[in-house]
Amino acid sequence: MTASDDSSNAVSTPMKTPAQAWETLMDGNRRFVESSSSHPNQDAARRASLLSNQQPFAVIFGCSDSRLAAEIIFDLGLGDAFVVRTAGHVIDNTVLGSLEYSVEYLQVPLIVVLGHDNCGAVTATKSAVATGAMPAGFIRDLVERITPSVLTSLRKDPNSDVSEMIVEHVKQTAARLVENSPIIASAVTRQKTAVVGLTYRLNDGRADLVYSNGSLDL
Ligand SMILES: [Zn+2]
Repeated sequence: MTASDDSSNAVSTPMKTPAQAWETLMDGNRRFVESSSSHPNQDAARRASLLSNQQPFAVIFGCSDSRLAAEIIFDLGLGDAFVVRTAGHVIDNTVLGSLEYSVEYLQVPLIVVLGHDNCGAVTATKSAVATGAMPAGFIRDLVERITPSVLTSLRKDPNSDVSEMIVEHVKQTAARLVENSPIIASAVTRQKTAVVGLTYRLNDGRADLVYSNGSLDL
């Protein structure tokens, strides 16, 4: 990359530490919140620079909800983020495999779990737990995987609302990545990567930190 485009150059700089990756991610979200996105790394030169390899500085594992498109809310471009999304950010083996690939082969220094308020998958799970009526088809699989988070939230506070359940679900999802994957756990222990959990606010576009494992201090 040349230094002629400041915004592009800033993001294409290899991210050495989890803290630097975290700072870049939060800077991008701040620009998005302020409606001053710079849309970095989205031109032909960037596209050409990525032909033979990629070095994303984060892997974003978020809910599939159309309102929290990962590259948009963090003001990113091509090659910046490795993205995995499922409804309610539920984990299965292929999700873990995708995350492990990003850590093992792409050396991403930051794993982001991204939930959001008014999450339909968590709301459906809250309803299923309350009524005992499970949804049809493979949607049931989503609900079953979110149920532990909803139950934990209800155990802490029988009157907990969907927002509290979503925070709990982000925390549990982030913690489970480290518990279930020796590759991720090893990278965290060696301080090669950090895991953060964020909840995204639909109304103002802000992503708030609710969980972290690994130092984010510069
Ligand atoms: Zn959702």
